[in-house]
Amino acid sequence: MMTSEAILTAQQLLAEPKKIAIIHHRNPDGDALGSALGLYHFLLQLGHKPTIISPNDYPDFLAWLPGAETVHIFERDIHNGIKLLDEAELVFTLDFNHLSRTGDTMEPALRRVQAPFIMIDHHQKPDDYATVTFSDTSYGSTCEMVYHFITQLGHKELLNKTIGTCLYTGIVTDSGSFRFHTTTGTTHRIVAEFIDLGVDNSAIHSLLFDNSSPSRLKTLAKALENMVIMPEHSASYTYLTQEELTTVNHVKGDTEGVVNYGLSIKGIVFTAFFTENKDEGIIKISFRSKGDFDVNQYAREHFSGGGHINAAGGKSTESMEATIQKFIATLADIKIA
Ligand code: 5GP
Ligand code: MN
Repeated sequence: MMTSEAILTAQQLLAEPKKIAIIHHRNPDGDALGSALGLYHFLLQLGHKPTIISPNDYPDFLAWLPGAETVHIFERDIHNGIKLLDEAELVFTLDFNHLSRTGDTMEPALRRVQAPFIMIDHHQKPDDYATVTFSDTSYGSTCEMVYHFITQLGHKELLNKTIGTCLYTGIVTDSGSFRFHTTTGTTHRIVAEFIDLGVDNSAIHSLLFDNSSPSRLKTLAKALENMVIMPEHSASYTYLTQEELTTVNHVKGDTEGVVNYGLSIKGIVFTAFFTENKDEGIIKISFRSKGDFDVNQYAREHFSGGGHINAAGGKSTESMEATIQKFIATLADIKIA
């Protein structure tokens, strides 16, 4: 929950109609875009002029979210993006806590902003750039925190189907459809309220999860084919090279969720998924775990990343082979299960 001091400061910052920039991290997921749009619809009702500025494109499977068409894509139109940031009288940063998570193009522009910041986020180790920092790793999603932000500010009456639809999306995607341990009774009570407001939970699940495409299925098939299982370490990994991604006609978002298959094998509690990005010259890595093995700490220590205890990410500038060799080498020294 927010402290009463944080609530008061946020209320003061929102007392007059303002131009407000809402920003989430680069490569937005359901929680990033869902929280931004939920907050956007709330701020509109309060009489503000909010604009969501996404560092780069959001994936197609989120394009149906109400208001997604209004999102400004910074890396596509830097000139206007900078103008929006310069004009902003207040900035919300959602679902991240280090400005570097907006990427090399947007970060410098964001650092020049003089307006106050409000951070709402559930990752570990927040930076100290915001006037109001609502940061708590016990929440399963930023969307759930935006719900508390709205209600703690005393505006529960403004919650509606549109806001609920956006926030439901991040709650369901970041909780692995309510399966992760951060899912609480409160999470379910919030979702129950949304359903009572008319949110079509069943339709949202279909929009999010039954929207596969030939390239997405082929991406998954290739990743499953490449999977290596190491029962002696209770671990597994898989990878997709740039060449493989090109062969399956991969588009942004096709690799979403692939990493979870590595944990679906009995006895496996740690998995990694390596994807090669030739444009950026990096191997992007997703880590997932079950139970006590802390992939956030692991990603920080070995692959300059971070995240949460059971879901984290990192990167490597070495080749795919060298990166995987490094990963395998770390397994000998750590206690996984
Ligand atoms: P994903 O594997 O879905 O990309 O990321 C899983 C989680 O780890 C997300 O919560 C994301 O915010 C975090 N994460 C992913 N990549 C990085 C990274 O390079 N640095 C940090 N600090 N966190 C990351
Ligand atoms: Mn999140």
